[in-house]
Amino acid sequence: MVDLNTLPRRRYTNGPTALEHLERLSTQLGGPQIWIKRDDQLGLTQGGNKTRKLEFLIADALAQGADTLVTAGGVQSNHCRLTLSAARREGLECHLVLEEDLGSDGAPIPADAGGNPPEHTGNFLLFDLLGADSTEVHPNGSDLIARATELAGELEAQGRNPYVIPVGGSNVIGALGYVDCAQELLAQFAEVGLDVSSIVAPSGSAGMQAGLVAGLHAAGSLIPVVGINVSRTQEDQEPKIVNLVDEVASFLHLPLVPRDRSLGLGDYFGTGYALPTPEMVEAVRLFAQTQGILLDPVYTGKAAAGLIDLVRQGRFESDDNVVFIHSGGVPGLYARAGAFA
Ligand SMILES: *Cc1c(COP(=O)(O)O)cnc(C)c1O
Repeated sequence: MVDLNTLPRRRYTNGPTALEHLERLSTQLGGPQIWIKRDDQLGLTQGGNKTRKLEFLIADALAQGADTLVTAGGVQSNHCRLTLSAARREGLECHLVLEEDLGSDGAPIPADAGGNPPEHTGNFLLFDLLGADSTEVHPNGSDLIARATELAGELEAQGRNPYVIPVGGSNVIGALGYVDCAQELLAQFAEVGLDVSSIVAPSGSAGMQAGLVAGLHAAGSLIPVVGINVSRTQEDQEPKIVNLVDEVASFLHLPLVPRDRSLGLGDYFGTGYALPTPEMVEAVRLFAQTQGILLDPVYTGKAAAGLIDLVRQGRFESDDNVVFIHSGGVPGLYARAGAFA
């Protein structure tokens, strides 16, 4: 086991998140026993996987004497919401560099003359309520991190001490949050006496998956993590996961992690990031109607669609235990209600 306790860390959640058995969903699908890790119930505003990453990232920012955070993402970015929430908790300034969203038809939804997206809802509403120190919306496809770095330079010239957090908080430091989650999961499996055959999780900027893979490897666990890509083909996503796993392993002085531990399936994201698919809609409705659990349309809805398809393909045995990571994102559901109408 890696000892993460020696690293600087802030705490935003009280204790482990719940691991719940989804009995009615498992029965309905007639497949393996499905369990859910409730990382949608992590701390900071409305929870989600970025909270774990931010415990390490914000501690690093504070250790460097930062007084200002700068980060980037879409106008419905969960990562931006949680970074801003952490900034409020810590008394830091927070600036958001945003990318305009695409509508269900794949066409960009441009910001209005005031630089706001047309729909004041979902995560963007929360940026307003949480009082982001600035937001700027750029055309879809812009180099957000280049602009965030430039903005940090401008803030520095004004006497601030900014700390730039990458998109999704997915660098080595952020991924440590999911090394920690892997340890938390293994302790929960041991406590329940659960023999887990697979962990299924959405894979985006890959920090969550890389942390899980590195953390399981560090603990000597061979449980595979099946990533369900939310924006890239298998060919494009897996090198991203592998690179970050290698960086985390090197940072923690772990033995090399075999390449085939980094699996990211590209069959479920449809035509692009955040664009709805019929299977996502089915999955969101199924989790809601069998278990009363809300998923989000961008990440967990598509990952659950992947899980459901793998079950239907017979990928798991009926007595397998499969753990699905609920990584949050539900505030974004309301901004994309049209997909369900
Ligand atoms: C960011 C995010 C993910 C993806 O995590 P990565 O570390 O970027 O791969 C999954 N689910 C939700 C709700 C997210 O906000």
